Amino acid sequence: MRSRRPSERPDRPAEPILHVDLDAFYASVETLKDPSLAGKPVAVGGTGSRGVVMSASYEARALGITSAMPSVRARRLAPHAVFVPPDFQSYQAYSNRFREVLLSFTPLVEPISLDEAFLDVGGATTLFGEPEGIGHRIREKVHRQLGLRCSVGVAPNKFLAKLASARAKPDGLIHVPRDGILEFLHPLPVGALWGAGEKTVETLGRLGIRTVAELAAVPTSVLARTLGEAHATMLAELAGGGDDRTVVPYEAPKSVSHEETFDRDLDDDEDILREILALSRRVGARLRKEGYAARTIVLKIRLANFTTLTRSKTLPRPTDVAADINAVAAGLYRALPGARRRIRLLGVQAAGLAAAGAEQLGMIAGTRWGDLERTVDRIERRFGRDATVPAALLGRARIGPAPAGEQFKGRERLPGTDGSVKGSAHERTEALE
Ligand SMILES: [Mg+2]
Repeated sequence: MRSRRPSERPDRPAEPILHVDLDAFYASVETLKDPSLAGKPVAVGGTGSRGVVMSASYEARALGITSAMPSVRARRLAPHAVFVPPDFQSYQAYSNRFREVLLSFTPLVEPISLDEAFLDVGGATTLFGEPEGIGHRIREKVHRQLGLRCSVGVAPNKFLAKLASARAKPDGLIHVPRDGILEFLHPLPVGALWGAGEKTVETLGRLGIRTVAELAAVPTSVLARTLGEAHATMLAELAGGGDDRTVVPYEAPKSVSHEETFDRDLDDDEDILREILALSRRVGARLRKEGYAARTIVLKIRLANFTTLTRSKTLPRPTDVAADINAVAAGLYRALPGARRRIRLLGVQAAGLAAAGAEQLGMIAGTRWGDLERTVDRIERRFGRDATVPAALLGRARIGPAPAGEQFKGRERLPGTDGSVKGSAHERTEALE
């Protein structure tokens, strides 16, 4: 018999949460780009001496290649496997299309990474049927529209849905009914639980606890002696299948902006244009990182007397290329009437955002600039040279503190001061709205 918690609406299905996860995502995209790779062991990752495998096709996994394995070791293990460097631009484009498919079933989609998301389909059943059926439809639609396979977990909560999709891999679906939770959960190794890392698994192993069932049989007070109260309580809760976190839908940003307030007012055109270029570069890098292109560029100027001017221009096609953004922003500055002015603050905003597609987006400066900037992005991603580009991605703003100097308007406000900026600026803010 199915029991319901009293807080639940009677028309809400018992297992409304889906976890959808693309199978061997990067490796599968590489196979779509080069169909001759189909059926071959493919490993995507750094090819240098210190590179690691980021994604492996199932054929490569059969040879023992796993994610996070040093590429050198993977090569030794499978010399005839195909090693491909990552192409994040393509992965981002496929990820955007994946998200579009998920959003066609419910607005309650919470992306976890490029290739996985939680969905709450509790309100979608009138339109699309029971959650398990929705899971099958998603799998079919993802394959038809993207050519990629995914696995789906259908369960009463996020924790169980994620475990179920992992168990369903590759190319499968597992439905954990509310009255079948313990049957699903108890045979699993304790390491399957969130918060049970290698060390915890080892500690529990010394107590003779290897499966979730064995863990559930031990009183929390006993576990607390070795693991501490908080950790023991959390594991006990998970061992019983409990998890009451809700699906937090992703909100697409409307704009990305960077602005800078100066210690000394700027009055020299050359200085001002150099600052506009620096701001445009940061806006472009941020757009590419988030996978968006902008249709409208806004220049904001605050004069020494605190008058604020904004000028904007809408482009015929969206762009994520800093050289384009700078050309527009600098053009807006040059078009201002009048003579010398003293400027206290400058800001560049990219608005009218659309998910960036696979096509080249360079408009004014052409595609070579776009390629060049993407190359710089990759270098910076690898070597972490540019500390001014924030490490936080969109979804992380909700779950953890963002680096200083970053501001997510409308969600979470953080001080806009960044002590590391160059001498003339005392305040630097970024916003994603
Ligand atoms: Mg995946």
